[in-house]
Amino acid sequence: SKVPSLTLNNGVEMPQLGFGVWQVPDDEATTAVSTALEAGYRSIDTAAIYGNEEGTGRALASSGIARDELFVTTKLWNDKQGYDSTLRAFDESLGKLGLDYVDLYLIHWPAPGQNAYVDTFKAFEKILADGRARAIGVSNFLPEHLKTLLAETSVVPAVNQIELHPQLQQGELRALHQEHGIATEAWSPLGQGKGLLEVPTVLAVARKHGRTPAQAVLRWHLQLGNVVIPKSVTPSRIAENIDVFDFELDADDLAAFAALDEGKRLGLDPAVFGA
Ligand code: NAD
Repeated sequence: SKVPSLTLNNGVEMPQLGFGVWQVPDDEATTAVSTALEAGYRSIDTAAIYGNEEGTGRALASSGIARDELFVTTKLWNDKQGYDSTLRAFDESLGKLGLDYVDLYLIHWPAPGQNAYVDTFKAFEKILADGRARAIGVSNFLPEHLKTLLAETSVVPAVNQIELHPQLQQGELRALHQEHGIATEAWSPLGQGKGLLEVPTVLAVARKHGRTPAQAVLRWHLQLGNVVIPKSVTPSRIAENIDVFDFELDADDLAAFAALDEGKRLGLDPAVFGA
């Protein structure tokens, strides 16, 4: 089944569903990304800190898929924030990926204690202007960080990649993103495969549609308009997670999911992390 795209605020098309590779060791990343590409994924989400840009790049190169059909995201790690260090870190990521450009480059965390994300984003603007990233954005930015960036830089980030799943629905950020034309990308969209996939509401909606809990959750994200990047190294799950474009949740299902929001963060707190 074909993955639909969203149009980012600079006109670039981004697949609404991609493949995340956090916690996949470099050697296993090649196999996992190859499996995902064979299953039909075209968007891959990596990061310098994941240590698997090389393994990811090898899978991209050996796939035989045309570069312009792929959508590759990587991210700048916290210890490289600042104008010059960002430019150097970007070169290093491109080299490891074996690419001339990435489709999306993200500031991984605002790391507000460093007070460097504005300068970092100015380096991102240079990378964008040089055509070495087709779009630039941020990750884990809270409303206050986004507002600072919007006030002090000229390019509106195309994406904010944030922790988002039915138990952390991020209403305030989603509204702010919509106001500014920023796409919402959900990390840990399956709640890291922990308790979420056993929540009775999720099981009931899945059963009603003859689908798995993971598929029901991914469908919820897609119908909200989120970009999703589920991760798995299991071939059957990799295939299952992209097989979500031939059914739809109805209003009752969406209302049931809305009631699951409990502000439950699985990951780190962006207000303090990366200082
Ligand atoms: P996820 O929500 O995608 O869950 C992945 C886990 O869920 C798997 O390891 C597996 O245990 C389970 N799973 C996957 N498919 C399943 C299925 N069909 N059925 C049952 N269980 C299944 O969690 P994630 O890996 O944390 O997030 C996805 C991606 O988001 C990451 O790989 C990474 O690319 C990105 N991410 C970004 C940040 C950031 O700070 N920007 C942080 C975390 C993750």
